[in-house]
Amino acid sequence: MQPFDYVKPLSLEAASALLVEHNGDARPMAGMTDLLIRIERGFFHLRLVIDIKALPGMRDLLVVRNGDLRIGAAVTMNEVARHPMVRGSWGLLAEGCQSVASYQLRNRATVGGNVCNASPAADSVPALLCYGASVHIFGPDGDRKLPLAEFITGPGRTALQPGELLTGITVPLPARDTAGKFLKLGRTAVGDISVMNVAVLGWPDDATPSGSQWRIALGSVAPTVIRAPGAERLLAGDTSSAGIEAAAQAASAAARPIDDIRATAAYRRDMVRVLTRRGVERVLAEMRAEV
Ligand SMILES: Cc1cc2nc3c(=O)[nH]c(=O)nc-3n(C[C@H](O)[C@H](O)[C@H](O)COP(=O)(O)OP(=O)(O)OC[C@H]3O[C@@H](n4cnc5c(N)ncnc54)[C@H](O)[C@@H]3O)c2cc1C
Repeated sequence: MQPFDYVKPLSLEAASALLVEHNGDARPMAGMTDLLIRIERGFFHLRLVIDIKALPGMRDLLVVRNGDLRIGAAVTMNEVARHPMVRGSWGLLAEGCQSVASYQLRNRATVGGNVCNASPAADSVPALLCYGASVHIFGPDGDRKLPLAEFITGPGRTALQPGELLTGITVPLPARDTAGKFLKLGRTAVGDISVMNVAVLGWPDDATPSGSQWRIALGSVAPTVIRAPGAERLLAGDTSSAGIEAAAQAASAAARPIDDIRATAAYRRDMVRVLTRRGVERVLAEMRAEV
């Protein structure tokens, strides 16, 4: 492996200045579960990796005054998945993080790294999209905030500009009695990257014909994780068995999968229909149990 230097700055300004100074030859590192492999395989030729874990706020996992969840960019998958507060109010996110690889990997891998990786198979992203999460960025021009949906711009691509790094993620407090389900299909029962996945979030809303609102996000079936707004609208109108089937088919139609070593496009598309239906049924059952 090509040798590189390692630095652990203590201020955001110093980290950003290093990224600017080593433009293209330096990258931030969090858990390094993905970055190390990319360096080792020669996808990245780096002279410097910049450890973000000692930067202010990066290890925060807290509920801020308005009830939103704040996740610092260096908070690990296990910390999110196991936190009682997250499991209580943001259960869909806890499920997504819990599904990542193995316990050992989740002890290092961060939600921030998962988001910056911008993989269509990133298992924390479907839940974050369903909750309407935003990302916080620090760079040469100071702080800025962006909806996650605008941050991930393509496979492996984000809206980060030279000298910028992710500092954290804000996840809004969901509506009362919100229920969620994350369903992941891998080649093995646990520990594998998603062949495809579906995140379903629902909550009661008297203003819709079905009495509920929905968010559905699909992973590993398009260049980025995508929402399925057509399916969401159909469910707001009708959650009868026929309505759920129509929504599952709309989600399947929204997918743009490819054939690869993990599965064929046709199989992925069909599994979107199957798992969307299953996810909606489970969320509905949970919502009804809460009433
Ligand atoms: C064996 C194995 C199994 C895996 N299984 C899964 C799985 O089931 N599901 C899944 O979603 N992923 C999986 N992954 C991928 C990876 O572990 C996750 O994406 C993980 O969340 C990455 O987090 P990290 O902290 O290790 O990121 P790192 O490897 O440190 O960084 C990842 C990328 O993000 C950039 N980056 C990190 N932090 C910042 C920041 N604050 N600002 C700007 N850029 C930043 C880095 O420069 C790098 O390009 C797996 C990886 C391995 C090796």
